[in-house]
Amino acid sequence: MPSSRPSFSPERILFVEDEADVAGPIKRGLEEEGYRVSWTTEGEEGLTEALAVSYDVLIVDWRLPGMDGRTLVERLRSEGNATPLLMLTALQDVDHRVAGLDAGADDYLTKPFSFEELLARLRALTRRADRQAESPDTQTTHLQAGALTMDTARRTVRYGPSSLDLRPKAFRMLELLLRQKGTVVTRTTIAERVWGSPYDVTANAIDVTVSSLRHALQGADITGESLSRVSIETERGVGYRLTVSPPGDPLREASSTTSDST
Ligand code: CA
Repeated sequence: MPSSRPSFSPERILFVEDEADVAGPIKRGLEEEGYRVSWTTEGEEGLTEALAVSYDVLIVDWRLPGMDGRTLVERLRSEGNATPLLMLTALQDVDHRVAGLDAGADDYLTKPFSFEELLARLRALTRRADRQAESPDTQTTHLQAGALTMDTARRTVRYGPSSLDLRPKAFRMLELLLRQKGTVVTRTTIAERVWGSPYDVTANAIDVTVSSLRHALQGADITGESLSRVSIETERGVGYRLTVSPPGDPLREASSTTSDST
């Protein structure tokens, strides 16, 4: 279970999408992020479900068998249901974006999209919902583990007295590991969150990015500092875990240099 679920985030998502090859990986990814996802393949069923159960966000595909996504959102709003709704449209259906928003969708996402972008849209939608509920914006932009601190808004990383200059993929991977520090982050989650899709990345690309992160961490000069070092451990065949070791603990540091599993 992710240890750093932001307090503003939704618990429950209703996902209405008839294409199993699209819905399956997304549902799995969202669940790995800590969301509870109900998936239905038909518009009529989705509308009934959305009206019957209190969801935090609805993700609705435009093209559905029977009742389409636009009709679903229109009917939902006409019933007085204001649950934040993200509409999915196909690239060629430019007109659908405007029509979807007019019908009452809060935002849209054009297929194909990256998983990372979906997460960002969901965060934006729920932040908007939180603001409307007059809750403070509690998005976590400062992450910390031992001597390592990350400011996700400014996109900076400091490790002890050093500033780390990370490439975008390495930055995103480190953010992911930091948000779930102490727990194993699976290679699937890394592929979806950092590369946007498990199909767009080779195992080697993940290994190379992990190696560059380890290199950056080990290259930082925090020797002599009474600071806690961090390391990225390999969970063979599963994924990676960011751990914090007390100052002057050479064993833990050495373990971070073990070679990757493939
Ligand atoms: Ca569809």
